Amino acid sequence: MPCDDTLRDRIGQAVAEGFADQVAFTQDLIRMPSLRGSEHAVQDFVFQALKRRGFAMERFAMDRAAIERHPGGAAFTPEHSDAPIVVGIHRPRAETGRSLILQAHVDVVPPGPAEMWTHPPFDPVIRGDWLHGRGGADMKAGHAANIFALDALRRLGLQPAATLYLQSVVEEESTGNGALMAHLRGYRAEAVLIPEPEDEKLVRANTGVLWFRVEVRGQPVHVREMTTGSNAIDAAYRIVAELRALEAEWNARKGAHPHFAEAEHPINLNIGRIEGGDWASSVPCWCRIDCRIALYPGERAADAARAITERVAAFARADGYLANNPPSVTFNGFHAEGYVLEPGSEAEAALARSHRAATGEPLESFMTAGYLDTRVYALYDRVPALCYGPVSRNIHGFDEAVSLASLRRITTAIALFVAEWCGLEAVADA
Ligand code: ZN
Repeated sequence: MPCDDTLRDRIGQAVAEGFADQVAFTQDLIRMPSLRGSEHAVQDFVFQALKRRGFAMERFAMDRAAIERHPGGAAFTPEHSDAPIVVGIHRPRAETGRSLILQAHVDVVPPGPAEMWTHPPFDPVIRGDWLHGRGGADMKAGHAANIFALDALRRLGLQPAATLYLQSVVEEESTGNGALMAHLRGYRAEAVLIPEPEDEKLVRANTGVLWFRVEVRGQPVHVREMTTGSNAIDAAYRIVAELRALEAEWNARKGAHPHFAEAEHPINLNIGRIEGGDWASSVPCWCRIDCRIALYPGERAADAARAITERVAAFARADGYLANNPPSVTFNGFHAEGYVLEPGSEAEAALARSHRAATGEPLESFMTAGYLDTRVYALYDRVPALCYGPVSRNIHGFDEAVSLASLRRITTAIALFVAEWCGLEAVADA
């Protein structure tokens, strides 16, 4: 049931009262540089923060075999994180409402050269309305919002009247295996909310993502013996050109996908990393490129992977150098399919009411052309998976920042959503 006006105002006030602590907590999270594989400290911090609040706690490792067997699981590489997944479990005194998963990821992408930042990337500086720092917007602010939305209810002597799982995952930026592991562990709820930085909008549709590596190898020779096309780095460039042609073909199919037809360029191929060669005067005998491409909802990751592999192989057969030095294609990260959030769910209606109460605006929805952990719940649990969070700027770039005014609105909206979706009951010891 939607909150009445009085309760709604009290919840808004309770969020406001806790907001200074919430910002300080978010800053603590940002100070921990939880790059891929280095999320242990922040997960310990989250574990303690939830335990102190009275959640029943579980902490578990990835089950590599189970993940790799799953169609949405990504291959493990040496870079894969071995940090645990942390779940705080709230059980009500009486289960009268609808269950909910609130989730956030703690892994952050590399900051790049520190001198490109105005402030050091892991120094959570506030300027005006903006809280800066790598991983602040994406998505430690949302993580703290989940926790402090529940704190606000508790300050009013209230708690969710349904089972609620507060999940802190890793590997969102590289494989999506963290959220998948929570699913494989058995956590299920009737709806999921993940407050990624989505500019106060709801994600309606989302692409899948594949990561792959192309490796070219050949015989090294002295430059004086070089003939056109015998250079592994040059050959890798030719493969990139072919992959660009594939990208253009996939984008040309956007008209067949309702949420993508209007997007200018929904399928982005990113050549994210290149390595190769040993010496300026030796013709390079090896080159490696790391790539990321998107796929439309409804397309199978395995089919897209096969299409890429076959395309590179066909190109190589027709290339003088590559025909004798066939490149390899391996899938070394995301193997994730996209999803569409079907309109009309009760969860979406409840979020729309909560959003309007918190912001005064109607809830808009939009398509995002990047990976989101909500796909796990949309595709494999088939429950409403709501990705909705604060206004941000420069995520994955320099001077990443989150709007504090927006964060407060979002936290209020989350608290109101929990109140409506899960229902409320008095805290036992209140
Ligand atoms: Zn994120």
